[in-house]
Amino acid sequence: MRRVRAYVGLGANIGDSGDTLARGVRALAKLPGSRLHAVSRLYLTAPVGIEDQPPFRNAVVALDVPAGPDPATGATALLITLKQLEQAFGRQERERWGPRELDLDLLLFGRAQLELDRSPDGLSLDPGKADRLLVVPHPEAANRLFVLAPLADVAAGLVPPGWSETVATAAARRLIDEGTEAARPIATWDGDCADWRRIEQDEAQTAG
Ligand code: AMP
Repeated sequence: MRRVRAYVGLGANIGDSGDTLARGVRALAKLPGSRLHAVSRLYLTAPVGIEDQPPFRNAVVALDVPAGPDPATGATALLITLKQLEQAFGRQERERWGPRELDLDLLLFGRAQLELDRSPDGLSLDPGKADRLLVVPHPEAANRLFVLAPLADVAAGLVPPGWSETVATAAARRLIDEGTEAARPIATWDGDCADWRRIEQDEAQTAG
């Protein structure tokens, strides 16, 4: 089966969000036909938009997923799976930018550049509250340190389609704008235990 490398952003700020993200990574790793390629560090991040809410935990995974007959179909199938996982994790409908049990964003789907208003034939997905059914690269990815910092852990040298710089360069630029407290690494992924391993304080200070 032909696979494509997708990057999925995970975020949560309700309950034990570190544990939620660990369970989220394990669920993504088990998706039929998919292979977990890499997991970023776990970040403690400051809320964006609505600032009066608990801090978030964010991470990014690189996942090799079935390519599908064409990028629109393959990416939409993955988006549907992500939305189903959010539901399974008890995601409630709340305001945009508000608190959430688990948010899964499709950041990149190989070299695909897509702006879809409706699902490809045979796939059913409600447009939800966003303007577009599916946009990849995710339009917010370039502007947010909570996405760029973990994405740089797993794809530093990548220049996503439509971008003029690498993920690492974009992350470094956002770090200057937002400051180190906006996204602080607090754990690394232990592939053997399939769980986070906390970064000790002195280690965290020297971590990128
Ligand atoms: P939110 O709940 O704020 O993450 O928004 C989810 C909605 O955004 C979904 O209903 C999707 O149809 C839409 N959307 C558009 N592009 C993307 C993307 N790249 N990843 C995830 N959701 C997307």
